[in-house]
Amino acid sequence: MTAFSIHAGHNPAGKTACGAVGLLDESKENRLITVELINILREHGYTVYNDTVDNGTSQNDVLNKIIAKSNSHSVSFVFSIHLNSGRNDYPGDGRIGGFEVWVCGMNKGKPELAERIRTNMRNLGFTDRGTKVSNNLKVLNKTNAPALLLEICFVDDRDDYNLYQKVGYKAIAKSIAYAIMNKQLQEAPSNLNGRVADEKAADGNWYYYENGKIATNVTTVAQNKNGWWYVRNGKVDFTYTGIAKNQNGWWRIVNGKVDFNCNSVESNENGWWKLSEGKVDFNFTGIAGNKNGAWYVKNGKVDFDYSGEVTCKIVKGQVVRA
Ligand SMILES: [Zn+2]
Repeated sequence: MTAFSIHAGHNPAGKTACGAVGLLDESKENRLITVELINILREHGYTVYNDTVDNGTSQNDVLNKIIAKSNSHSVSFVFSIHLNSGRNDYPGDGRIGGFEVWVCGMNKGKPELAERIRTNMRNLGFTDRGTKVSNNLKVLNKTNAPALLLEICFVDDRDDYNLYQKVGYKAIAKSIAYAIMNKQLQEAPSNLNGRVADEKAADGNWYYYENGKIATNVTTVAQNKNGWWYVRNGKVDFTYTGIAKNQNGWWRIVNGKVDFNCNSVESNENGWWKLSEGKVDFNFTGIAGNKNGAWYVKNGKVDFDYSGEVTCKIVKGQVVRA
């Protein structure tokens, strides 16, 4: 089984030879990412060594100890996790510094692996600064296994900071882990059944799948990780606003999405309906309101043929039930 050596660069925060500090603290964040990354790889069955050094007496001592630890096992790759600095953009200029990978040479599988990691980081929103070659980075030169040094983003750039906070270190670790394992981040559509995919397709559409295939003959209301959606002929129809059904009932749809907060009276082509938490309430008979007024509802549907009198129950000025 493939094994990896991973370490967070530098001594811990606050110690001599610790990492860069700005809006982010390199030695704190790189340790969070490192531990999460190692956990994900181990969950998938890989042998991973955490070769982070927390007791170096100098920058050189930290590096020597990391190299000694990394070289004490047989591994396929060494990963060194860092955060960058040098942008000095504390106000934020709207430009994200971004992510880069350092290697000592474009060989031994390093460019391909770096490319996969960069792709996933780019998909998270980090500017892609590329794969860079240096002969002066000790960790890259002295480890037995090919080594990649990852600079996640800039500690001293407001735009990097905002994106880092929004994305979170866990998603960053997951993106890197899946690139290392060469696995797709999202669930493969071939496994989807009765669901909308969690990612939009290359053509920009969000498709509904049954038994791993786009179900172009199906119109329904179905779920993905972002909510429940009106599906027309196998794809989410963001232009639809109305009331549509699936096997669980009839649902209020606004711009293609189920609105679970709707308690109003809304329409579709069959009439006007009383909704409770986004769902047509067929048990409701009485008075219900929407922005146009108050209506007599019988078994969930406004009864426009009814004329007569109903007795209302009023609580604190509001009609609660007829
Ligand atoms: Zn660093």
